[in-house]
Amino acid sequence: MPVWFLFLFYVAISLLPLGLAWSQGLPPRPILDEIASGAGLLAMSVLLAEFLLLSRYRVVARKAGTDIVMRMHQLLARAAAILALIHPFLYTARRQTAPDWDVSRQYFVTNEFWAIWPGALAWVLLPTLVLLAIGRSKMDFKYETWRLTHGLGSVLIAGFGVLHTVRAGRYSADPVLSTVWWVLLGIALLALVNTYLLRPFWRSLRPWKVTAVEPVGTRTWEVSVTPEGDHKLAYEAGQFAWLNIGHSPFSLAENPFSISSAPANGPEVRFIIKELGDTTNKIGQVQPGTRAYLDAPHGHLTIKGRKAKGVALIAGGVGIAPMMGILRELHRTGDTRPTTLIYTNRSRDQIARPNELEQLSAEHGTKIIHSLSEPDKDWTGEVGFITPALLQREFGDDSHRDWIYVLCGPPAMLEVVEEALINLGIPSSRIISERFSYD
Ligand SMILES: Cc1cc2nc3c(=O)[nH]c(=O)nc-3n(C[C@H](O)[C@H](O)[C@H](O)COP(=O)(O)OP(=O)(O)OC[C@H]3O[C@@H](n4cnc5c(N)ncnc54)[C@H](O)[C@@H]3O)c2cc1C
Repeated sequence: MPVWFLFLFYVAISLLPLGLAWSQGLPPRPILDEIASGAGLLAMSVLLAEFLLLSRYRVVARKAGTDIVMRMHQLLARAAAILALIHPFLYTARRQTAPDWDVSRQYFVTNEFWAIWPGALAWVLLPTLVLLAIGRSKMDFKYETWRLTHGLGSVLIAGFGVLHTVRAGRYSADPVLSTVWWVLLGIALLALVNTYLLRPFWRSLRPWKVTAVEPVGTRTWEVSVTPEGDHKLAYEAGQFAWLNIGHSPFSLAENPFSISSAPANGPEVRFIIKELGDTTNKIGQVQPGTRAYLDAPHGHLTIKGRKAKGVALIAGGVGIAPMMGILRELHRTGDTRPTTLIYTNRSRDQIARPNELEQLSAEHGTKIIHSLSEPDKDWTGEVGFITPALLQREFGDDSHRDWIYVLCGPPAMLEVVEEALINLGIPSSRIISERFSYD
């Protein structure tokens, strides 16, 4: 399914209520009143469509990329909040219950309490949720607590919002449009039920267990999990999973990690995990035998099915995790395309799996360029961050135009590398990247 089709689908859902309102052909009102109603309708439909966007539908993230989906979610939520906030102030009509002769509510906007209170609650909750999401990283919130609050808050906003819309709205009083609102709300809630109840139930029937937790660099571990039973994960090298270790399958305590193993290596799945916060700081203490659950595969950072004459992998820090999966797969499947890995770290002890990388270089011919920003005095490799000059040297000639470029690392690194590659004439369709943060 092409990505433009998904985009059109979301636009269509968001515009459906506006279209139905317009098709009612009600007598016209002053333009500000029409804009007020339109803003309210659009805010509501965008918010409901967001539930579908965020429900971890693989096809969505596979086509658009998870970080693009998250960015879209943030921008759409902010736009919807602005529309919702301004719409009550735009009405010019008199605020009172419409008398019987004003059947189409052309001259009055309702001020009845039963119609207004749900809207007022949603009106306060929505910007609060958006502001909390924007400021989350600066607040002392546990991520899981924030996620739960965000989810419950969104459900309340959706419910109160629809209630207000059908009770107060001029156009939503129409039986067709009011049915559409309830159906859209139902679909949104079903999407949540599917993500947080049905799919976890399905996962509870397919448990995994931890088989090894090995240190692979400073404060970095490789965790291996293997299926308990005869199920297995069908994934592509470079994709990621939501990993839940040692919690109920219904728990919100799950984190996204790129898969560092190769599908060709068998059913065992591995993750390279860097200590960063409350879950990852304890990853080294996880005991083999601990039960795990995987919501996977997700993500688009994969070279499978993409025509390319060579493969360039550019990783910063723990961004090596998906690259390891791709390298292991290329090696294991005997892929003969030329491959270059540029791998940047702060110091030598942070390089994950240095011996295996050397072996891959010797056996598979992968060209590996290490770069350190704080090298020790014996270091003979590249120094500093990845620069346009380094990329020009490695990929500047015409033979590299048809390669695929896979990027994973800190956002600042991704920006520099993407811009430099595009300046080298690499088409953006040949550059795929993943950020490890949605902030
Ligand atoms: C697609 C993707 C792939 C990733 N792959 C890897 C990888 O291979 N190796 C690796 O070490 N790290 C990876 N990360 C980052 C990893 O998910 C976070 O470092 C980890 O979740 C931090 O959890 P914590 O509880 O230890 O830290 P916290 O202190 O709880 O969180 C630190 C930050 O991590 C992010 N985070 C935490 N929990 C979640 C969650 N459930 N969902 C989304 N973001 C969360 C938030 O931005 C949060 O501010 C990846 C992230 C993404 C989005």
